[in-house]
Amino acid sequence: MPVESVYPTLESLLPRVRKPVQYVGGEVNSIVKDWDSADVRWALLYPDVYEVGLPNQGIQILYEVLNEREGVLAERTYSVWPDLEALMREAAVPQFTVDAHRPVGAFDVLGVSFSTELGYTNLLTALDLAGIPIFSNERTSAHPLVIAGGHAAFNPEPVADFLDAVVLGDGEQAALAITDVIRDWKREGQPGGRDGLLLRLCGSRLAAVYVPRFYDVTYHADGRISNVRPNRAEVPPSVSKHTVLDLDEWPYPRAPLVPVAETVHERYSVEIFRGCTRGCRFCQAGMITRPVRERSITTVGSMVAKGVAASGFAEVGLLSLSSADHSEINEIAVDLADCYEGTSTGLSLPSTRVDAFNVTLANELSRNGRRSGLTFAPEGGSERMRKVINKMVTEDDLIRTVSTAYASGWRQVKLYFMCGLPTETDEDVLAIASLARRVIEAGRQASGRRDIRCTVSIGAFVPKPHTPFQWAAQCPPDVVDARLHQLAVALRADRAYGKAIGYRYHDGKPALIEGLLSRGDRRVGEVILAAWRDGARFDGWSEYFSFERWARCAESALAGKPVDLAWYTTRERDYSEVLPWDHLDAGLDRDWLWQDWQDSITPEGAAEVEDCRWTPCYECGVCSAMGTEIQVGPTGERLDGKRLLPLQVLR
Ligand code: SF4
Repeated sequence: MPVESVYPTLESLLPRVRKPVQYVGGEVNSIVKDWDSADVRWALLYPDVYEVGLPNQGIQILYEVLNEREGVLAERTYSVWPDLEALMREAAVPQFTVDAHRPVGAFDVLGVSFSTELGYTNLLTALDLAGIPIFSNERTSAHPLVIAGGHAAFNPEPVADFLDAVVLGDGEQAALAITDVIRDWKREGQPGGRDGLLLRLCGSRLAAVYVPRFYDVTYHADGRISNVRPNRAEVPPSVSKHTVLDLDEWPYPRAPLVPVAETVHERYSVEIFRGCTRGCRFCQAGMITRPVRERSITTVGSMVAKGVAASGFAEVGLLSLSSADHSEINEIAVDLADCYEGTSTGLSLPSTRVDAFNVTLANELSRNGRRSGLTFAPEGGSERMRKVINKMVTEDDLIRTVSTAYASGWRQVKLYFMCGLPTETDEDVLAIASLARRVIEAGRQASGRRDIRCTVSIGAFVPKPHTPFQWAAQCPPDVVDARLHQLAVALRADRAYGKAIGYRYHDGKPALIEGLLSRGDRRVGEVILAAWRDGARFDGWSEYFSFERWARCAESALAGKPVDLAWYTTRERDYSEVLPWDHLDAGLDRDWLWQDWQDSITPEGAAEVEDCRWTPCYECGVCSAMGTEIQVGPTGERLDGKRLLPLQVLR
């Protein structure tokens, strides 16, 4: 493959597309290495547009970790909008990286990070544009290895035929281990060809690599899976995820990319811990990233200092699945806010747990006058519903928390809910309306103002693999939509509150397709291919998503098989059924998950599970299976001006 830049041809197309700047690269902190100086070359794909993909932490971390290594080169590539796709096909411009505009097909590896299953069709577009055969079994040693990672990769079966390999779990060490295996294989003259390389990857201790083609799936006559078995003696019957044990040793990203076009987040994000043991039963991210591993306050401080100095960002995001749960979150917030005093730089937390938010956090997040959005996620409208999902937040907790926020100067609070949860009734969803009214009342009282607002944001629930709800029937879209409509009417019914309450919702149809892709097996690959050939692109974007297309393609691709769209989505599974991802081990004990599922739906009222950070281990299985343990502080350390010197210099 030629490795010359495609930019000369691409440039002539850019005046004819929207937002052309997203394709030019050249960001502060981007890296272009000499092609010939590297012996292993990665193209990192985020299968969505630049504005969504650039801030992605996973890609930024791998980009830096790989480029730091001598002899390794990593460049980024994002999905191109359909306007540019059409022009690229006309002008024969292949999928390119934004760093040096090299053709993706020339790299050794195409690493794709899947945050959501709705990016699957975009992978096919990228492969096709790159000239890489869609099916892995049609690729030769001349093609890049297509390796997927990210949360959605914990059930890669729907895209199994399109992937060469899948990495389960944390990517930092795995990417380096894969690089070493590829380098050795190349130096030794590529023994065994592509399969030889894939077999070596399966044997790498740090890589946690699953190669779908080394496993055969058989089915019962009724459509259920009968067995998933390795077809090579060298590969294990199941593949376990990899866990990075000391996040302080991996302080990435150090030099965040500064976007050249508008993106969904423009801030320096530091992951203050990974994993979550709160035990929300719907939450795949929490389950598959266990156990909790905190970054120490001093590492967080030095990362922020260097990251802000290297980027000039005016916002620092303290990221994790539940940031207010860090054992030293108050100290981190106070000390960083001290450092920023008098500057235009502010702190933000993503969606915060209602029961972990407190007055100190409220004050520190708003110290320099910034009160960027405050989002809480009660998820369930009624207390009964919140017990079912194990989100143990009472209505009084919520009212106390929002009162603190409104009293600290916030005028706008966003509350996030889900619709269509197991055992849910109309009443559970309608309870959101009375809750929102109480929030406004409490906010008016706490702030003494009438101009406060609360936005209710609600989306349809999708049961996910590796969670207690993996066996649940997904709620049909018509039921979800009817409840969302009833809620809209109830929210608008009372004029005294109607104007103070905003309402955003996502209807149930896209969620049903997400459900198909989340819990599907290899037969769903044919549906994805049919939908993509029919024009499916950017399925996470409402302006491109077509439910009608997906339903039609599911019907035609699955015709003659004992399964259909409803079979994959609105059907409850039982204990004995082999699930498509059962051979992929996130560490969670299957019996524990099943018991937790049963505990959630018992007619006597759901049993609750406490967080194992503060109560004894309840043996979900992760720590013993993975040889890991919870890593939490407090360390008792504090941040001081000296440690944050680069930040002081910036002022
Ligand atoms: S094994 Fe125990 S300590 Fe480890 S994550 Fe599970 S419940 Fe928590």
